[in-house]
Amino acid sequence: AVNRIPLVAGNWKMNFNHLEATYFVQKFAWLLRDAHVDPRTCEVALMPSFTSIRSVQVLVEADDLPIKYGAQSVSVTSQGAFTGDVSADMLAALGCSYVIVGHSERRKYHPEDDANIVDQVRAVLAAGMRPILCVGESYEERKQGIELDFAVGQVRDVTRDLSVEEATKLLIAYEPVWAIGTGMVATPQSAQDAAKAIRDDIRETFGDETATSLRILYGGSVTSKNASQLITQPDVDGFLVGGASLHAEELAKIVRLV
Ligand code: PEP
Repeated sequence: AVNRIPLVAGNWKMNFNHLEATYFVQKFAWLLRDAHVDPRTCEVALMPSFTSIRSVQVLVEADDLPIKYGAQSVSVTSQGAFTGDVSADMLAALGCSYVIVGHSERRKYHPEDDANIVDQVRAVLAAGMRPILCVGESYEERKQGIELDFAVGQVRDVTRDLSVEEATKLLIAYEPVWAIGTGMVATPQSAQDAAKAIRDDIRETFGDETATSLRILYGGSVTSKNASQLITQPDVDGFLVGGASLHAEELAKIVRLV
């Protein structure tokens, strides 16, 4: 992670209403302050449900907290008759910095295919935010030994039509599906291998500058027990944390280790 500011992003998934989110942020901000966390050396972000983003914004802005925030998905359209959708401009207006795109749970439970994911990436970029593109193999692909090709292929499918300028704003989260929410974390070496394969491929397509500045997160059962080994890997630039991000002490501990 030389010259790249690591990011620890908490993906709350469908947890915490706005009152619970408020309580969390107050406690978490206190823990970060106590640990002297400096946003110049480690960025911290929370990804609440849509209904809690405004509450997080109010707290962050009121106290100028060293916490960024974003959403877990976004509509591919900008406005209109799309009942139930939330646009990228609406998220940007709430001060969101990041939007998770293509999380495996969205790919599984919603019709989010590559074409839709590409459009989400474009919508996020057009609204001035940064997409965190999630990729990663299932247990099946790992068993076949094709996990690196699979993850790199997913990145390629989504990034192939992006300009260098757009690609430079992207973050990628390598999240092997078998590791998400299972307690089975990837070994530091396999997280490194995947992050390196992705970075090498981005270098081939978009050039050295984009590849060198690209932040690649690892996600999948990250806790304070495994974070320090994972973060020593040269191509791992932080974490997307699910389950462990629901506990303020645990998330603050992970931030401290990064
Ligand atoms: C996630 O869903 O992005 C994730 C990494 O979940 P968990 O940390 O719970 O495995």
